[in-house]
Amino acid sequence: MRFGIHMPQKGGFARNVKRAVEIGCQTLQVFVGNPTSWNPPLPKPEELVQRGELLREHSIFPLIVHTAYLVNLAAAKEEFYQKSRLLFRKTLQNACNLGSAYLVLHVGSHGGRGYKKGMELFISTLKEEMEDWPSSDIELLLENTAGGGTSMGGTFISIGNIIKALGDDAPLGLCLDTAHAWAAGYDFSTGEGLKKAMDELNEHVGLERVKAIHANDSATPRGSHRDRHAHLGEGYIGDEGFKEFFSYPWPENLPVILETPEIGSKWDAINLSKLHLYSGEPRVVKRGIEEDG
Ligand SMILES: [Zn+2]
Ligand SMILES: [Zn+2]
Repeated sequence: MRFGIHMPQKGGFARNVKRAVEIGCQTLQVFVGNPTSWNPPLPKPEELVQRGELLREHSIFPLIVHTAYLVNLAAAKEEFYQKSRLLFRKTLQNACNLGSAYLVLHVGSHGGRGYKKGMELFISTLKEEMEDWPSSDIELLLENTAGGGTSMGGTFISIGNIIKALGDDAPLGLCLDTAHAWAAGYDFSTGEGLKKAMDELNEHVGLERVKAIHANDSATPRGSHRDRHAHLGEGYIGDEGFKEFFSYPWPENLPVILETPEIGSKWDAINLSKLHLYSGEPRVVKRGIEEDG
């Protein structure tokens, strides 16, 4: 497995990469532009290409881009739907310029129209987007949600249905968020619970489609359908729960990203060391950027 963080935006890209390398990140997830704005000022394409090169120089891979939270490809309101598609396309293009391997997208919200209608729109939209997918080097990863309210994608069955509808050759995988899965009701903190969750995942999605993990503890109880992240070991999943989760034979180079609170603080190194502890993977000490070359 390769461990990393969702990189903060404050403080500049190069400085944050330097810090990430110093605390031992092997992979990173980023936003491109402000994730809460429909029309964020964005770096120029050349700038994005340079950023991608900087990451490669420091053996940070794979790079993952997370779409803005505003994007809802199942939006009930036409205005939001059109804005979402526009921002999704822009983000996809920017992710390509960065040389990102994956673009993470939350399965949308049906906005009160009902699950069936919302899911139909989400699937038909993805079909259209994938007709002129910009590059075979980038894959879309659907992130499982906590499944609260009108949000879709809280179960592996629902994500499996989307993948089936788009076909085996679609550039599509799953980004498994542990806090969301927990809040959605999956219990992987015991041998029995883990087996049940993974049986469902294997049957409907397939382990080979799991391309990234978001490792977050959950500040809300299992089945609460509320999405609140906690530091590893400090939430309802806990140290023992994560040890069980990481005992599963996950693919060797699977990227594992922290989206824990206070990202950019001393907590990143603490949470990273927890990942090494749970997984038994040795900690690789990296050289800082200044010492490089
Ligand atoms: Zn997410
Ligand atoms: Zn996540």
